[in-house]
Amino acid sequence: MRDIHVLTTGGTIDKVYGVSGLLEIGPPAFQALMAPVLTDLRFVVTPVLAVDSLDMTEPDREQLCRAVEAVDGDLVLITHGTDTMAATARHLAEHLSPAARSKVVVLTGAMQPAAMRVSDASYNLGTATAALQLLPPGVHIAMSGRVFRADEVVKDTTRGVFVEAPSPDLERILRWERQGGEWQVLTTGADAVTVALMRCDAGEEIDRLTSSAPDVLRHVAGAD
Ligand code: GLU
Repeated sequence: MRDIHVLTTGGTIDKVYGVSGLLEIGPPAFQALMAPVLTDLRFVVTPVLAVDSLDMTEPDREQLCRAVEAVDGDLVLITHGTDTMAATARHLAEHLSPAARSKVVVLTGAMQPAAMRVSDASYNLGTATAALQLLPPGVHIAMSGRVFRADEVVKDTTRGVFVEAPSPDLERILRWERQGGEWQVLTTGADAVTVALMRCDAGEEIDRLTSSAPDVLRHVAGAD
């Protein structure tokens, strides 16, 4: 049975109410969460950081990178705040040493502190632990009951749900919509669509986009 190396960084999963009544980062919640679980897995827990992930700096991410590289094993579970989990996952995917890229790294966390009676912490740890043993080498996120590669995930902050990051083409259309612009499908085929980007009065065409990105095809078909 291979060991699972757990690196903790803080985030909501480890938050507790201090005596002042303010939420603060407590000790890693991992051991307490795993206490009721009967398993032959061996967890080696190493606290690396204790920060809200909104306060995580590039040097912090470098420190985490070095900690992953220093792990004497292949399976690395990282607990992390959800707000910048996707940014850290991408940082690790891009900056890990070539030797460390043979490791399976899974980040997870929680929207509600593990210390609360109603929390997603245990569920997310379970998802992440199982995913870790099934995934190929690389950096992944296990959140919202799903598993994503580091380069394809964002947190939808309006819903608190982790979802696939929009393709660059869809991001362009969404940006256009956010600015009040309109768009109209000019031609559509099985594999590609051409969209005119127009002013908000649906008048003058300002730009044109041809895309075969699956999320663009779904978006213009009204499926998303
Ligand atoms: N801002 C906090 C963080 O990212 C809260 C988000 C969370 O962990 O759910 O650490």
